[in-house]
Amino acid sequence: MNFADSEIVNSIMTKRGMDPVKSPEDAAVIFINTCSIRDNAEQKVWNRLNYFRKLKQQRKGKLVVGVLGCMAERLRERFLEKEKLVDLVVGPDAYRDIPHLLSEVEDGRKAVNVILSQEETYADITPVRTTGNGVTAFVSVMRGCDNMCSFCVVPFTRGRERSRPVESVLDEFKLLSDQGYREVTLLGQNVNSYNHEGRDFAELMYRCSQIDSEMRIRFSTSHPKDFPDEFLHVMREQHNVCNYIHIPIQSGNNEILERMRRTYTREAYLELIQKMREMIPGVSLSTDIIAGFCGETEEQHRDTLDVMRTVQYDLAYMFAYSERERTLAHRKFMDDIPEETKKRRLAEIIQLQQEIAGKRNRMEIGKRHIVLVEGTSKRSEVQLSGRSDTNKMVIFNKGNYGPGEYVEVEITDCTSATLKGTVLRSVRLSDTIAELVTA
Ligand code: SAH
Ligand code: SF4
Repeated sequence: MNFADSEIVNSIMTKRGMDPVKSPEDAAVIFINTCSIRDNAEQKVWNRLNYFRKLKQQRKGKLVVGVLGCMAERLRERFLEKEKLVDLVVGPDAYRDIPHLLSEVEDGRKAVNVILSQEETYADITPVRTTGNGVTAFVSVMRGCDNMCSFCVVPFTRGRERSRPVESVLDEFKLLSDQGYREVTLLGQNVNSYNHEGRDFAELMYRCSQIDSEMRIRFSTSHPKDFPDEFLHVMREQHNVCNYIHIPIQSGNNEILERMRRTYTREAYLELIQKMREMIPGVSLSTDIIAGFCGETEEQHRDTLDVMRTVQYDLAYMFAYSERERTLAHRKFMDDIPEETKKRRLAEIIQLQQEIAGKRNRMEIGKRHIVLVEGTSKRSEVQLSGRSDTNKMVIFNKGNYGPGEYVEVEITDCTSATLKGTVLRSVRLSDTIAELVTA
């Protein structure tokens, strides 16, 4: 989400006549786009700001530093008054105001805008994508969140949920297709609740899938409470909608889920997973899990491990609970699980997931996948990397293939994080998907 937001800011700055540079040392203005979701995300920002403070001193103050995003929303006073680290503080709904705020800074004032909006979606701003790989892109389809999960700061920092008009998403999609992008991930805190004047996410996804049959589409994130059947139909029927669903469970215990205000039970969640697997054979699933939420007992923690064994996720993002101010959990419950215990439970969760992912990846050996080449592998100059329809990272020898191409790869080896394979041929997505899914 922040990556996508930075591209909007990039667009706003480019219009003001300022171009992006490669490193902070070359910049006249530095913006740091921040995340408040967990304390360690915020710590990274503080460390980075300390480095920028040094740059500012070296440049004798002739460097403007701005904090954007969720931390700006949450900690505006601290940035400006206590720490005196930054010149500019801009919340996630105020990016349009940046040029004006910069002028204020140029006039020697500190500038702040952290007003949250009920309407802002930046629908008319075409993001300037200078830091991506030129093959895959993010498109925000909604902003904010109304769900109020008790652990989560997002509703406070990003405000009320609002959806972008269908047409503006389709226009951006067409542009990306013309520019040669081959994969788009539609973004929202809960894409299931996308609704613009009565048009829902299944409709939006269907319309997107019709624009370019060579363009893959992914989405993130779905909340288990309201995953619609119609959406699964679109996924099943449209070859370019990837068979991959990120569907965070957070905990495998009903009492904890209730305390988290997630509004589903373990049983309802498992039923949903079963339906997904029945309707989309071979669908790949990932989740988010929080270890050590308020009052979590050993037994409740074991319920989480148990649900992971039952579902067999392909991928998981796993976190220790981090208390956030203003949230319901902060007001109502005690953050009473010792750090050591949280860490140990998290380590158990991570270890189990590695075993599961390793096992699931080994089951891929000998199978074929259509992989969209994203670029040179991070590990080796002579190899390429890309992802399968099911969102698995696949690495293979370069040959004559290059970014933006679809290739059919036979999987020959794996780790718990990546698949390795051999390219058989270059393919068109629209021609081959049906025959390959059955292969
Ligand atoms: N909207 C998405 C989640 C966005 S935040 C959804 O509801 O699925 C991404 C993940 O961060 C969450 O799924 C949760 O697992 C984790 N997270 C959020 N707040 C947290 C906190 N206070 N402590 C630890 N992890 C947290
Ligand atoms: Fe946070 Fe819950 Fe909204 Fe996700 S759905 S952003 S976890 S409040």
